Amino acid sequence: MEKIKMTTPLVEMDGDEMTRILWQMIKEELLLPFVDLKTEYYDLGLKNRDRTNDQVTADSAEATKKYGVAVKCATITPNAARVEEYGLKEMWKSPNGTIRAILDGTVFRAPIIVKGIEPYVKTWKKPITLARHAYGDIYKGVEMSVPGPGKVEMVYTDTEGNRESVTVHEFKGPGIVQGVHNLDDSIESFAKSCFQYALDTKQDLWFATKDTISKKYDHHFKDIFQETYEKEYKEKFQEAGITYFYTLIDDAVARVIKSEGGFIWACKNYDGDVMSDLVATAFGSLAMMTSVLVSPHGYYEYEAAHGTVQRHYYKHLKGEETSTNSMATIFAWSGALRKRGELDRLPELVHFADVLEQASIHTIESGKMTKDLALITELKDVTVLNSQDFIREVRAEMEKMLDA
Ligand code: NAP
Ligand code: MG
Repeated sequence: MEKIKMTTPLVEMDGDEMTRILWQMIKEELLLPFVDLKTEYYDLGLKNRDRTNDQVTADSAEATKKYGVAVKCATITPNAARVEEYGLKEMWKSPNGTIRAILDGTVFRAPIIVKGIEPYVKTWKKPITLARHAYGDIYKGVEMSVPGPGKVEMVYTDTEGNRESVTVHEFKGPGIVQGVHNLDDSIESFAKSCFQYALDTKQDLWFATKDTISKKYDHHFKDIFQETYEKEYKEKFQEAGITYFYTLIDDAVARVIKSEGGFIWACKNYDGDVMSDLVATAFGSLAMMTSVLVSPHGYYEYEAAHGTVQRHYYKHLKGEETSTNSMATIFAWSGALRKRGELDRLPELVHFADVLEQASIHTIESGKMTKDLALITELKDVTVLNSQDFIREVRAEMEKMLDA
């Protein structure tokens, strides 16, 4: 069989620990035999980030701006223990944070749905994609303990020195106070990423805040979404046959639970933090959760939502067998290859991405899976496979599909 051609390279961001091992296996077994793989390689493994003073992370994000599509392996975000373990020069920042700051994007997380791994919510038939705004609110909040009676005010001083103030509260005794902010630019970027991703994936977009209580702050989010929609996306949505739907956050959670899934749920920063864990858990497994960073300028970075699976890596280092689920990492590659194929008008590459996903799903649905899924599946007669054998089974399935 002739290998599928690519015209533009993918930005390949390698990573750490068990996912770095899976990365290599996926390339060798599932990609290189079929695709004339073109990538620009950046080693974001912790050792190389330390060696380059983290320059490699910034470089990989800049390359993503140049080429448009990246695929990223999970990486260690160093803490004190990691500084010691790797003898680091510094406690380097989270690579995902650095990349997101450069690309200015929103992260969309969606579960991979397979028969036999059923969501806890019985009505959910299709994935729910969660989009979390990644700037501001309580994550950039300032707080103060109020020791006793007195007045707390919020003051704005413009560049000319004009002041405007509101009273937060006249305290009669001790209490607490918090100041939070957000930026029109950031909210607009968030809105654009959401509308763009809805168009890309042909799914409805839901957005919810608490605008009835927060008449300026949350209402402003609602207004920016509405204005952005009217100005740039309304017609495109109509053409695509999808809808934009705004409601109150309490109404949204009730509707989400009763829904069939199959839409994008955009959330403010805190709501997204909480709801993404809720939705991920309710769908069954973190190992089946994919993630894509979409920038408002049209750059895409695909990855798995889980981390480097450290515990499994230490077993691997001791020579013990691991049964680590590679699905989300496989789907990071298929997502990136599909997007590359769409942008470069390479239908064969898009088809390959579809085959890779279908073969992976079919392998699990036929009862062959890693241990994490075997523990929660409703299928009978399950074969538990190690990390390598699962990937080999997917390859066998792909060969069958591509032959036929
Ligand atoms: P983790 O890698 O997500 O793994 C936590 C646990 O979840 C594992 O020990 C395993 O449970 C289960 N698990 C996760 N992914 C799995 C998979 N693919 N197959 C099977 N089981 C899976 O989180 P962590 O161990 O707390 O974090 C390890 C490192 O990852 C940290 O250094 C953190 O900084 C980094 N991290 C990176 C990213 C990213 O790059 N996007 C995201 C999160 C964390 P059992 O042990 O019970 O089998
Ligand atoms: Mg959280």
